Amino acid sequence: MATERGSATDPLRGAAMGNAGERLAGAHALAQLAEAIRGCTLCPLATHRTLTVPGEGNVLSDVMLVGEGPGAREDVTGRPFVGPAGELLNELLRSIGWERSDVFITNVVKCRPPGNRDPEPAEVATCATTYLGPQERALDPAVIVTLGRHSLGRYLPGARIGGIHGHMRRAATGQHIFPMYHPAAALHQASLRDTLFGDIRGLPTALLAAREALSAEREASVKANEASGAGPGAEAPADDAEQMTLF
Ligand code: URA
Repeated sequence: MATERGSATDPLRGAAMGNAGERLAGAHALAQLAEAIRGCTLCPLATHRTLTVPGEGNVLSDVMLVGEGPGAREDVTGRPFVGPAGELLNELLRSIGWERSDVFITNVVKCRPPGNRDPEPAEVATCATTYLGPQERALDPAVIVTLGRHSLGRYLPGARIGGIHGHMRRAATGQHIFPMYHPAAALHQASLRDTLFGDIRGLPTALLAAREALSAEREASVKANEASGAGPGAEAPADDAEQMTLF
C-alpha cells in the first residue's frame, strides 16, 4: 500500500496499540468464529445458502468494514464483496492508498438472503448477536466503516445515512463509526459514485482521530486507576514487534 506502515493513518494497528498477547487471542477468536459460522443453522438463511461468508482480511487491522449481507457471488465463493459492489469497494480503498488486505471485511448477516431480499430483523438480531458482536470484540478496531443502512442501523439506530455519510460518529457503545453508502447503491445511482469517493477521502483522518481519542481515554483510565490506588491496572505491556511478525 502507498501509505507508510505504522504511520498514523495506516489501517494496520501500529506497534504502540494493544499488545501481542491480546492480538494473538483476537486472531484466534476470529478463526474460531469463522469455524462456528461455517456450521451455523441458527436462522432460516442457513437453508438457502451455498456457503457462509464469515469475513476476511487483516486480523490486526484497526479498520473493520461491515456490509449488509452476501450477494450471489459471495454465496458461491464464501468471500465478502467479490461481486460488482466489491470491485467498487476495492477501487474506493485504493483511492486512499489502501488494499482490502489491509482491513477486515464482513457483513451483518453471514448467509445470502434468498433473491437478495432484505434480511429479516430476527435474522439480523441472531447473526449480529452471535457472530458480528464477537467479531467486533475480537478485532477491537479503532473505526468501523458501515456500508449501507442495515449496517448503519446496528451501530447508530435511527440515523439517516443522507445526513451523516462521511462523518465519524460515536455509537452508544463508544465505537467510532464511519458511515458510508453501500457501494452497490452507486451501481444503480451514478451520482453516488462521487459521494463515495469523496467520503472515503475522510477515512484516514477519521482513523487518526479515533486512535487519538482511544489513546487519550486509555491514558485517562490508567491515571484514574493510579489515583484510586489500583495501580497501573490492566494495561498490558507494549507490543513485542517480533511476535507481530507471526501474522
Ligand atoms: N453486499 C454486501 O453487503 N456484502 C457483500 O459481501 C457483498 C455485497
